Amino acid sequence: MPVLDANSLRTFVAAIFAAAGCSAEESARIAASLVSANLTGHDSHGVVRTPRYVAWLREGLVRADVEPRIERATSITAVVDGLYGFGQTVAPFAVRLGVEKALASGLAAIALKNAGHIGRVGEWAELAAERGVISIHFVNVQGSLLVAPFGGVDRRLSTAPFCIGVPIAGGEPIILDFATSLVAEGKVLVASRGGPPIPPDALILPDGRLTGDPAALYGDLSRAERNPEAGEGAIRAFGLHKGSGLAVLCEILAGALTGNGTAGPREGARSRITNGMLSFYLRPDVIDDPEAFARRARRFLAFCRSSRPDRPGGAVLMPGEPERRKREARERAGIELPREVWDSLLATARSVGLAPDRIPTAR
Ligand code: NAD
Repeated sequence: MPVLDANSLRTFVAAIFAAAGCSAEESARIAASLVSANLTGHDSHGVVRTPRYVAWLREGLVRADVEPRIERATSITAVVDGLYGFGQTVAPFAVRLGVEKALASGLAAIALKNAGHIGRVGEWAELAAERGVISIHFVNVQGSLLVAPFGGVDRRLSTAPFCIGVPIAGGEPIILDFATSLVAEGKVLVASRGGPPIPPDALILPDGRLTGDPAALYGDLSRAERNPEAGEGAIRAFGLHKGSGLAVLCEILAGALTGNGTAGPREGARSRITNGMLSFYLRPDVIDDPEAFARRARRFLAFCRSSRPDRPGGAVLMPGEPERRKREARERAGIELPREVWDSLLATARSVGLAPDRIPTAR
């Protein structure tokens, strides 16, 4: 597999977005986000997305260098319209606004709508945690219909991620961040392109049979293009009725309440997807002294970790820990990309007219 070090990959991906029409600043921000998803082990939300993002930009489905609009606001709330800008631009705008309001008032809620794909939601919880602020994020994907609710076989939900970030003074934050589908669509995409397989019960066919074959989502895999609408099956919601219920609430809060729109039949022919996100921010010291909180949390986390592993060599990890471990490893050893993903980046670079000397050599 081609291996790229994080810096070269960031520079390369930034150059692709700049050549495609984004400012240098936005290109660097998108590239940093995508590569950070690869570094944390979420290849599904990493540079594999580049060709799709560039295609969306070309088709006018996402817009370069958007200045998000604050539609309405109070001292502790705001509604932010992302105006179809890149998620890597409009999500951090909304998060910084929420953090500032929470730092000033103790608590804040921010509704973000019409955001381009915001990628790995944990990145935004990490941003708040770096400022010492707890955050909770309900997210949905309008225009994307991928997941069957518990008890059904028909697609009715998006992969609607949910995320909580909690800073622990003097230690690493807890970052819980997952799609409410049994697997994120990106993981099915990566599997369909030669990456790690998905669980054999992750997808459901119209007759109720379970499968791990990405063709259930994309149809004929011999075609170069991956259209998640082409398959007959659906991704299953995680956690039976409980995960399916959480997904429903992500649609209600991030889709219906924000005005982003919920999962559902697409309106018109254009295949635009937008993320909606309803986020709550809390400054921990309005509840108790952060040091006292951190002491209690650390004691509990150590107790939780001390559970005997369920298999030889195993360990109990806290949310956010696998991502930190992966980042350390990949920053050292580089990022392995499936050949198909690397080839799709090269093809995208050529399609935007990037000079050959700006294309790094993979190891
Ligand atoms: P996942 O199944 O890998 O779960 C990740 C979460 O579980 C993290 O909090 C991680 O720290 C924790 N975790 C993983 N292994 C663990 C272990 N062994 N012990 C303890 N904790 C562990 O995540 P996913 O559902 O595949 O989602 C992947 C990414 O996709 C997320 O970053 C999510 O935000 C993103 N996503 C984004 C969108 C969007 O529209 N923007 C949609 C869906 C998913």
